[in-house]
Amino acid sequence: MTEGQALWLLFAALYLLECLAWLPGGMWLLTGPAGGWRLRRVVRSLELRGRRLALISLLPQARLVLSRWRLIPSTEGLVARLDDAPPEVIPWAELAPLAEDALLRLSGRADIVCEDSGAARSWQSRLERWREMDQETRAADFLLHARNSLDTAAVERAAQSLARQTRTLRRMGVLLLAWCFGVISGAYRWLGEGPEVLWLAGGMVLMLWAQAATFWRVARGADSKVRHRFWKTLAIAFLPQHAMRAPDEIGSPLRAHPLAARSLLAESEWLRLCREFWKEARHSAAPGSALEARALEEFFSAQDVPLKELEPVPDRHPGAAAWCPRCMAQFQIKDALCMDCGGLELRAFDSGDRND
Ligand SMILES: [Zn+2]
Repeated sequence: MTEGQALWLLFAALYLLECLAWLPGGMWLLTGPAGGWRLRRVVRSLELRGRRLALISLLPQARLVLSRWRLIPSTEGLVARLDDAPPEVIPWAELAPLAEDALLRLSGRADIVCEDSGAARSWQSRLERWREMDQETRAADFLLHARNSLDTAAVERAAQSLARQTRTLRRMGVLLLAWCFGVISGAYRWLGEGPEVLWLAGGMVLMLWAQAATFWRVARGADSKVRHRFWKTLAIAFLPQHAMRAPDEIGSPLRAHPLAARSLLAESEWLRLCREFWKEARHSAAPGSALEARALEEFFSAQDVPLKELEPVPDRHPGAAAWCPRCMAQFQIKDALCMDCGGLELRAFDSGDRND
């Protein structure tokens, strides 16, 4: 391997590292607008101190972090949920919320990582209020929070605003990517280590400085405060991988639920997500699920989505008499329970539950 090839590999590896982000579990990433907005769940397998690894996207994009409801009040206590882990219930008497940067301490033994320090602080004050309320008032406050986080127009506005703010940074990011891995690599291959390659590399340095100047200006006027703006600008001015991924540093102060991205997603994709969220909340005996289902039901009704559409009847296997509405497994006997889903009652095929 020549020195040039080794350098190319190093740059490629550094760039790929920049495409990864550590985000709190239970978060979703909305990226776009190039190639259409896409919503992705944070990868579940790798976890480090409450954060999970997420691949943002290979091309520089605008990105919005969305979150499912992870803190829900119940009679027994506060229900704290992280992705698929069984929810933890913290009795109200033990609840002692305290925000430390993005970390929100809930009690002596439980904590949860929020989107940022602002989110952690606002949760601290909400939880302090919940602690003093009765369950009925708490549930009403949760439903209000749920309604606010499901504002589809707000998500559309935030995504468009973010796309507008990052437009120049994204274009320059793509240009730098093409310049570094296409133009310079091609010239090196065909012309060898000559003055041409040095000129091209010099051109890239100028582009880095232009990107740094744009970033300094955009970060100052961004909707969401950019922390360590000076140091980030410095990194962009000298390190190509940081310059290419500069749009990632511009975020949004919006806190919303993934289903609120309706107008930005394909309708079929959005409905698939609705079914997933509905199934999980509706057919779960876990604490907090009933209240989550109530909030979702209210949202679907406002969005004109009949619940029947979210509970499809599967194609019947030969000999099957019933199916489990949660895991969709089919059974030959009607009067049984799905043990995989914690003893959930089955639905019979001939019970008149069919959609058609
Ligand atoms: Zn099941």
